[in-house]
Order: sequence, then C-alpha cells, then structure tokens
Amino acid sequence: MSDKLSAAELIALEEKYGAHNYHPLPVVLERGEGVFVWDVDGKRYFDFLSAYSAVNQGHCHPKIVKALCDQAHKLCLTSRAFYNDCLGPYEKMATEYFGYDKLLPMNSGAEAVETALKLARRWGYKVKGIPENEALIIVAEGNFHGRTITIVTMSSDPDSFSQYGPFTPGFVSIPYNDTDALEKVLEEKGDKVCAMIVEPIQGEAGVYVPSDGYIRKCFDLCHAHNVLFIADEVQTGIGRTGKLFACDYEGVRPDMVTIGKALSGGTLPVSAVLADDEIMLTIGPGEHGSTFGGFPLAAKVAVAALEVVRDEHLTENAARLGEIFREEIGKIKSPYFKSVRGKGLLNAVVTEPGDGIEAWDICLKLADKGLLAKPTHRHIIRFAPPLVITEEQLREAIAIIKDVFESL
Ligand SMILES: *Cc1c(COP(=O)(O)O)cnc(C)c1O
Repeated sequence: MSDKLSAAELIALEEKYGAHNYHPLPVVLERGEGVFVWDVDGKRYFDFLSAYSAVNQGHCHPKIVKALCDQAHKLCLTSRAFYNDCLGPYEKMATEYFGYDKLLPMNSGAEAVETALKLARRWGYKVKGIPENEALIIVAEGNFHGRTITIVTMSSDPDSFSQYGPFTPGFVSIPYNDTDALEKVLEEKGDKVCAMIVEPIQGEAGVYVPSDGYIRKCFDLCHAHNVLFIADEVQTGIGRTGKLFACDYEGVRPDMVTIGKALSGGTLPVSAVLADDEIMLTIGPGEHGSTFGGFPLAAKVAVAALEVVRDEHLTENAARLGEIFREEIGKIKSPYFKSVRGKGLLNAVVTEPGDGIEAWDICLKLADKGLLAKPTHRHIIRFAPPLVITEEQLREAIAIIKDVFESL
C-alpha cells in the first residue's frame, strides 16, 4: 500500500477545507511537460486550457524553470525599498520587446488592470485636466478584467458582481463591438472620459472575436476625443492569437497595455502595465506599489519567458496552427457542433446543447479521451493549447475532438 492520496481523496480535501469558489473538472494533476499534463494515476492529457493562456511556453519549460531555480538560490525578494540587480535589466528588455517607454510591474492580471485604471485617472486629472473625482472610464459589456471590487464593478456578469456592492463609481458600460455606442458616449461625455479599456478578443466571455476594424475604430475615436485607449492583453497577449498583441492585427498601438498570465510562462504570478512617459510618470514615489511587484525572481522568469516566445517562434506557430485548427474543426459533422471561432491558438467551439448534453458533458468525454478543455458558459468550449504544440500533436488532438463530437 502506498500512502499517496487517491484522486477522490484529493478532491475531497479541497471540498472540505477549501473555499468553493471554483468548479473544476474532476481531474487531479500532478505533473506537466510541454503540451501534456499527467494525473495522479499516470494518465496523460493534452492541456487545451493552458491555465487560461498562462502556459503559452508549455508546462515547466526548462529554460524558464532554470531561470527560476538559479535565481531562487541567489535572491528572491527585496521589496522595492531597495534596488536589485534583476529589475532594471528586465524593464529594459521588456520595454524594447513590446515597444513602450516604461513598464510598471505587478503580480496578478487584476492588479495590472487596477494599475492601468489608476494611471488613466491620474492622466485624466494631471494631463487632460478633468476636474478631480469626475473622470469616467468606458468599458465593454461581456468583459473580464479580473476579480477586485472595482473590476467587478465593470462586469456585466451577475456571477461576478452580485452581492459585492457597493461598487466603484466612474464607469460607463457600452456594448462590445459597437462603435456607434462608443461614439455617442464620447460625444456626450468625452471631456470627462479619461480612457476606454477593452479586450481585443473577449476571452472569458467565450472567445468573442469582434468585427474586423473594431479595435482600430475604437482607438481612432478615443484619440479624436483625447481619451486613452487601453488594451487588456492579459489573455490575448504574448503570442496567443498569432501576433505578439492581438491589437497588432489592426496596426493599433494602445496607449496602455496590461499583460500577465504568459509573462511568466505559468511559473509565477507576474503582470505589468506598459505605457509611455506622459502616462507612466503621472504616478510618483509612494503613490502606488506592491510588495512583490517586479521581485527578482519574477524579473528573471519574465525575461526567460519572453525569450522563449521569441526564440522558439511561438507567435508564428500559433498563427499557422490556429488556421489548421479552425479549418479541421470546422469539418466536424455532429448535431452538437455549431461553429468554431478564434484567432491563432485562442479558439472556441460553440456547441448546440441537446438531449441533456451540455459543454460540460463534452469536456468530461474529452478528458476521458485524454484532452483537457474547459467550458465557458453552458455552450462554449475554449481550446487554447500551449503554443509549443507541434502540427503532429495538434492533428492528434483534433482527431480526439472530432471523435468525441461525432460519437456523442
Ligand atoms: C485572466 C484575466 C485577467 C485577470 O488576471 P488574474 O491574474 O486572474 O488576476 C484580466 N484580464 C483578462 C483579459 C484576463 O483574461
């Protein structure tokens, strides 16, 4: 008898001792490498969630893990009360990589978004000249920007905001993919608006891809009204959609970008805001911060994670394999299959629920066949493998997905 806990026992522990704020698939993982993860019984799965696109570089990428371990033996955390020998080189590398004057390091995606909102308001008061406490920020319905109280104020999903009020004032919500609505708000209230924040593809909403030209039009309208355009690329950024940023598809360089998730290749919570001096320098010493933000470990890991994306051409791989994925999945013949959409390797299948079979049940069957994916809402399944996936692995995974749909 081994004293190793079984899958059922491990699930029971979380149920009894953990908060119930998630509803995981009943799979208990203990190991990962590249596109694969293994459960406690040794069964192998393709990981088609990639921890919500945090693991673009694949599980336990040796170069990133080495950077992590090497630095962990030297110095982990200094706080920003002192300088360290990792942060400056990381900031130089990352700002050159993404093409911005400056980077402000945080940890979670939500913190990066909060930081961008603070910067936007600061810029609104100091640069644009909005009367204090009157700045407005435009958000899009269906958004997902994180879980803080201010951020759930921006949400239109009752699961996210119900019974968490009172909420933060200063937000105006308009429909996603609707530039007429944006134009109307800007014409009526533009002098009070400091920024618009938007996901170039709404990930959590179900990989909702807006019309071609939407991002460009939003950017142009914002600039016509002296309003900052902020792209939340926490999920879409760093190669996931087949460009470094999803905004690159429309040649838009946002005034601010939030990044996170894959910034560490899934090894640590590492996030950041990118902006130019006019915006970034509106916050001075002592006016914002984070104990861990930009800690030496994170700095080293982020550099390695970004190098892997560049050196292994993961963005190009995502663009090429994404085309194959959508073309092949689009050929599925099943009454439960409705459509496939996405960009690069951020894709979703819209299912047609029937006979009591919902997206959740399809995900259980996929797991049974060795592929992990997670439903968003009752009828959408996101498919987002690590970007290190090869064409051969992708075709094997596509065969599993086809097989599951066609044998329902
Ligand atoms: C995941 C996500 C966030 C929040 O990131 P956390 O690290 O979970 O706080 C913010 N914005 C977008 C677009 C995301 O997908």
